[in-house]
Amino acid sequence: MKYVIVHGDGMADWPCPELGGKTPLEAARKPNMDRIAACGELGLVATIPNGMPPGSDVGTMTMLGYDPLRYHTGRAPIEAASMGLDAGPDDVIFRMNLVTLTPAADGATVMGDFTAGHISSAEASEIVADLSRNLGGHEFEFHAGVSYRHIMIWHGGPVDTALTPPHDITDKPVAEYLPKGEGAERLRGLMAQAADILSRHPINQARRASGKPAATSVWFWGQGKRPAVPTLRQRFGADGAVISAVDLVNGLGRLAGLEVIKVPGATGFLDTDYGAKGRYGLDALRHRDFLLVHVEAPDEAAHMGRADLKVEAIERIDELVLGTLLDGLPRLGDYRILLMPDHATPCKLKTHSNEPVPFAMVSDKALGHPPAASRRYTEADAAASGLIVADGHGLIARLFQKPSA
Ligand SMILES: [Zn+2]
Repeated sequence: MKYVIVHGDGMADWPCPELGGKTPLEAARKPNMDRIAACGELGLVATIPNGMPPGSDVGTMTMLGYDPLRYHTGRAPIEAASMGLDAGPDDVIFRMNLVTLTPAADGATVMGDFTAGHISSAEASEIVADLSRNLGGHEFEFHAGVSYRHIMIWHGGPVDTALTPPHDITDKPVAEYLPKGEGAERLRGLMAQAADILSRHPINQARRASGKPAATSVWFWGQGKRPAVPTLRQRFGADGAVISAVDLVNGLGRLAGLEVIKVPGATGFLDTDYGAKGRYGLDALRHRDFLLVHVEAPDEAAHMGRADLKVEAIERIDELVLGTLLDGLPRLGDYRILLMPDHATPCKLKTHSNEPVPFAMVSDKALGHPPAASRRYTEADAAASGLIVADGHGLIARLFQKPSA
């Protein structure tokens, strides 16, 4: 038996005036998704526990069957996992941005750019290597990631320091958002030492000379210990793979014991190669039981407030990802498919919301029969079905047809 989750990031939405009052899922032509909804189970699933932010990390964790209230220890541990970093039980993992702090007119220092001008990975890796040489050692470890996104590991560090994501304080004075509480003094000291190194770093001199923002400081946030999650093999006896262009999703996959499969042309944006995801997914399933295939594009479109592009992204997922899988899966034997997003991203909000989202699940057997209902894969039809999975992390057990752990 093969098990597949098709993860259309942020697919769920609200009625959009520019679509004549339809949601993107209602407006899209998507015969494969609609057939799954008509032949299989259709309902709503709560992916974001009460009181948690509706992030892709939280929603995807739920999708993979882990209760975020229990296992979500921060964003940094998930990203570290995606980078293949190992951390021990006493290590605290921090996200470390390279940022540009700028003086404001009133003399305050503000968060001018939380990306340091989208500094290149090549430039950043030189900077992080120098921070590591000068400040790393027994206590602190520095690891270069992509562009402005890096990781710092504090051996034996505290987890409860109050830290603020830098993207939440653009153009605000940073003084009131500096680390507070346990460990704050060490982190502030580390920031000051890093700022000193950065102030005379050749990479920054070159960036300034060419009119680009310099990386003037490091900024720590999103910290936590590596979550001790049981793998899907331990829970369901399944070996699997994840296909995604997004680090966060790959990191969660790695924590779940999945192999990360890189697909050429997978961009994480609207121009991603949908067909390649379908083909590589099918190929991954030849020797594995489980596949999570993720497409970021609907979420990207919704963040831009572009319902038209979101409809297009959903149609391409339907034709090129789901269509390719449904064409090829019968040659690999019996299968079950779960289709869902991690959260809603209403185009009107241009950001995520936390209401339950539609899911549809079907087996090859049920797909072989004429549809039992005329319903489609939409928010309204899912609500009308009356099926609500309140503990979203239990849904994957239904995919595997195992009792929920
Ligand atoms: Zn998401």
